[in-house]
Amino acid sequence: MTKYVALICRLSPRPDGSYEGVEAQEKWGREYAAKMWPGVPIEVFPDKGISASKDDHRPQFERFREWVAAGRIAHVWAVEQTRVERREVQWFLLAAELDAAGITELHTNRDGIVRVRDAVAGIKAVLAADEVRKLRKRVNDRLAELAAEGRPAPGIGYAHRRAVDKEGNKILVLDKERAKIVQETAERVLAGWGLISIAKDLDKRGIRGKRGGVISPRSVRWMVTTPAAAGHRVHQGRIVRRNCYPAALDESTWQAVCARLSQPRRIKRRDGRRDLEITEKFFGRSSGRKYLLTGGIAICAVCRAPLAGTTKKISQGRVPYLVCNPHQGGRGCVAIKLDPVDKHVLKKLWTELDKPEFLSQLNIDGHAARRDEIGAELTAVEGRRRTLAKEWAVGGVTDAEWQEARQEITEHEQKLRNELAAIPSSMVSVDIATARQAWPDMTLEEQREFLGLFIDHVTIAKGVRGRKSVDTSRIDIEWKHR
Ligand SMILES: [Zn+2]
Repeated sequence: MTKYVALICRLSPRPDGSYEGVEAQEKWGREYAAKMWPGVPIEVFPDKGISASKDDHRPQFERFREWVAAGRIAHVWAVEQTRVERREVQWFLLAAELDAAGITELHTNRDGIVRVRDAVAGIKAVLAADEVRKLRKRVNDRLAELAAEGRPAPGIGYAHRRAVDKEGNKILVLDKERAKIVQETAERVLAGWGLISIAKDLDKRGIRGKRGGVISPRSVRWMVTTPAAAGHRVHQGRIVRRNCYPAALDESTWQAVCARLSQPRRIKRRDGRRDLEITEKFFGRSSGRKYLLTGGIAICAVCRAPLAGTTKKISQGRVPYLVCNPHQGGRGCVAIKLDPVDKHVLKKLWTELDKPEFLSQLNIDGHAARRDEIGAELTAVEGRRRTLAKEWAVGGVTDAEWQEARQEITEHEQKLRNELAAIPSSMVSVDIATARQAWPDMTLEEQREFLGLFIDHVTIAKGVRGRKSVDTSRIDIEWKHR
């Protein structure tokens, strides 16, 4: 097989800001090859205008690697090593590929002959990557600086409008109408509304998104979970400065909403199999559920699997049933007519809600206090994370220590968020009275959420043979607050 001299040419910025053309590089390469390897055919791999420092796709460079792997390359030339690969890890990988193909040297005009396996090559790659990092850092620093000043960057919250202050600085101000919508939406999320219902309702009222479009369930989520809603400035996914904008939501409400919308609902199974998880579906996307107690509220008393809704043909025609279904992890242990169960559970719930002692058990004030406490703790966690990052940046802690501490912080944060999500909404106290009246008009999703505030689960025991009508003693309600 004919082996080639590979000329790797890449348009690349010079330190003075001008560019070194691919054509010029090719000319130098051909001159070099003519002297060094006379008579060996030349193949040029020219990537125009592509940087080797980002993860850009370089089609010609990929072709070069294929040729290397296929054993078609005898020698490699580039004007300098960084034209081949600027990133250190990728350079080491490429060096390994070249070495495996029997190519031990990279010929360059500026770095001489680089022995690909030499530490020198590695170190040069590290240095080149370091330069890129420094440049990036300068750019990022500038962005972070703007961010820390609380100046708006592209992408602001729903409740904010851009404006200019007296000194001519760009600032964000609260749009009163929209802030009200954000507040209402947060309250609804905490009161158990689903994202779909909220989006539908906003649409019905003619409320439009930032750019005038219909508000989707996804934008409803964004509207109330973006840190900007609580007045915080975000940069690269992290809060860089707190309370620098006027807030549409107070801190604990915002935290509670975030926790609420980030929580998958877990259902423990007694037989030790993996927990069932009901994720976003439960909170927003159409769940396709037709029954109040399915989706994990009603479970089988025998095997603890969530019961599924179905219809069964009996003498009176097709009627809805709750069944322990093998498709949902059950074993077919129980089946019960659904309507009488719904009625019974609701009757029990309204009866309980009428009792003052039940309401006092909800411990609404205690919940509010704990929610504020967790909000403060979450704020502290974030501060700790930032301090740690700073420490690491100046070499105060090692990489390993940093990783470990970050892990700990993340776990602690997750625990707090879980606890926060488990605290019943403060809306409960005001909504109970209206919920009962509004019940027939509530969507199934909302009814399920409301039920979920009080009822942990409902177990259905095996029926006794021969009993015709539904035996309510088979239904056991596990309340949340006892
Ligand atoms: Zn079962």
